[in-house]
Amino acid sequence: MAGEPQSDCLFCKIVAREVPATIVRESETTLAFRDINPQAPTHVLVIPKAHYQDAAALAAGAPDVAVDVLREAGQVAADEKAEAGYRIVFNTGAGAGQTVWHAHAHVLGGRGLNWPPG
Ligand code: 5GP
Repeated sequence: MAGEPQSDCLFCKIVAREVPATIVRESETTLAFRDINPQAPTHVLVIPKAHYQDAAALAAGAPDVAVDVLREAGQVAADEKAEAGYRIVFNTGAGAGQTVWHAHAHVLGGRGLNWPPG
């Protein structure tokens, strides 16, 4: 069911501390941790603690938490001193490169970022 922890979900396991991660921020509803395969000097994933398969499902099922994710993403950028320019990315669907089916915002910064992205 949307919002409930999924036993086969990697990011639910990180929320439960069953899989280790380098956690940089935590709120009542969100967790932020460093991506295991960073694509920029700052590459942090901000996730809702509740399980939603992607950003659209999160926005539909828990809009307040979607806002929390965006607020925390901005705080990550501030913590990392990346306010000069950073990107918040939600890969949504396999065709866009989504590989983990638990909503997550990539916060990328600390280097020049091209547009359009690849
Ligand atoms: P997606 O491709 O779904 O948009 O992003 C999933 C992200 O999760 C990828 O950037 C990938 O490097 C990251 N990732 C995959 N497995 C792990 C893990 O076990 N720990 C952490 N911290 N990140 C992971």
